Amino acid sequence: MQRLNFEPVLTGKKEAALRSDVRRFLANQGTFPPGEVIDSWSVCNPEFSRLIAAEGWLGMTWPTEYGGGGRSYLERYVVIEELLAAGAPVGAHWVADRQSGPLLLRFGTEEQRQHFLPKIVRGECFFAIGMSEANSGSDLASIKTRAERVDGGWLVNGSKIWTSWAHVCQQMITLCRTEAPTKDRHAGLSQFIIDLDHEGITMNPIKNMAGEEHFNEIFFDNVFVPDTRVIGEVNQGWNQVMAELAFERSGPERFLSSYRLLEAAVEILRAKELQQHAAAIIGQFTARLMVLRQMSLSVANQLQQGKLPVNEASVVKDLGTSFEQEVPDALRLILSTEARLDAKQGVERLLSDAILKSPSFSLRGGTREILRGIIARGLGLR
Ligand SMILES: Cc1cc2nc3c(=O)[nH]c(=O)nc-3n(C[C@H](O)[C@H](O)[C@H](O)COP(=O)(O)OP(=O)(O)OC[C@H]3O[C@@H](n4cnc5c(N)ncnc54)[C@H](O)[C@@H]3O)c2cc1C
Repeated sequence: MQRLNFEPVLTGKKEAALRSDVRRFLANQGTFPPGEVIDSWSVCNPEFSRLIAAEGWLGMTWPTEYGGGGRSYLERYVVIEELLAAGAPVGAHWVADRQSGPLLLRFGTEEQRQHFLPKIVRGECFFAIGMSEANSGSDLASIKTRAERVDGGWLVNGSKIWTSWAHVCQQMITLCRTEAPTKDRHAGLSQFIIDLDHEGITMNPIKNMAGEEHFNEIFFDNVFVPDTRVIGEVNQGWNQVMAELAFERSGPERFLSSYRLLEAAVEILRAKELQQHAAAIIGQFTARLMVLRQMSLSVANQLQQGKLPVNEASVVKDLGTSFEQEVPDALRLILSTEARLDAKQGVERLLSDAILKSPSFSLRGGTREILRGIIARGLGLR
């Protein structure tokens, strides 16, 4: 049987010093309200992203020749873990830093790297993910948006949906069909970098259950994309998307979305006489959190070694999103407080936010069922 690799990783003095720097930075931030939101990697604040950029915490692992920090994945891990645990609004740059930049480093042209990476590092260029369509989510290979060859480039027609923060981003990496489907459904797909303010693009916001306009529906009507904006090889987009998903699925954001709520609940429960079953629940969550953290660190270390741990990333996302969904479910029963939509702050606000947003945790980035299918395939079971 094939094995999953979760070799333990220890962080050292360098990471500890960096952790202190991030905590100091966060303690000095008066301009954003850390701690009053769950799922802060879906909270978009371009101004805050530029503050992070000024600290050198965007593109941290990228080569210095593209403006990157030339630092390790473990150092990046420490920074994003601290930002997420504090509830910092990191949504604007999240996709560009986590997956679009690494994708361009792996598959992009030299011109694309030189053009986009320094801008991402400076917090001036944000990327959206253009994969899902109205009838193609889990079955991504069935997408209908097509790019047809024309002189000097491609004409894109079709639509995308659920594109997080596309209305704030400048660019979107868009998966298109460039050849009609054959027996091999994964062939004939290509990735393009598309300017989101290009003529022929219409974007409509979609309100989520929490009343926020976080994602969008986007229509393409004869949008011209030059050859210079094709990523990697034409018709090989599927393999590139799979590589991108290893970056997308394994990070601490896949289990820290409800962390602020857990921390606030512990503060409240500490001041009370704790029922035994409540203590057991908190103890169990803490133990799970520690294990998830080690697993996610191990994946970060494998990315550092140039590997693409797709199966391990799927395991982290599956276990992590189950964890972050169970936190509000369990806490609403043991906290003697109600979730209140009109609450502006405090645990009532966090609880209500988590109840409204947590159903999406196991959908975005690939659903639970799809991840389990990938893991089964990775183990040679399918
Ligand atoms: C908050 C949020 C943000 C998002 N942001 C983006 C974004 O920025 N860019 C982007 O491209 N997409 C984004 N998405 C879309 C996301 O990737 C899709 O929702 C996801 O891939 C599922 O696709 P679907 O919604 O079409 O559901 P479907 O694929 O229709 O699935 C419906 C249900 O059927 C199950 N199912 C489907 N196929 C199988 C199967 N073969 N075996 C077993 N069960 C199956 C699924 O697990 C699910 O429970 C976002 C989604 C959310 C919730």
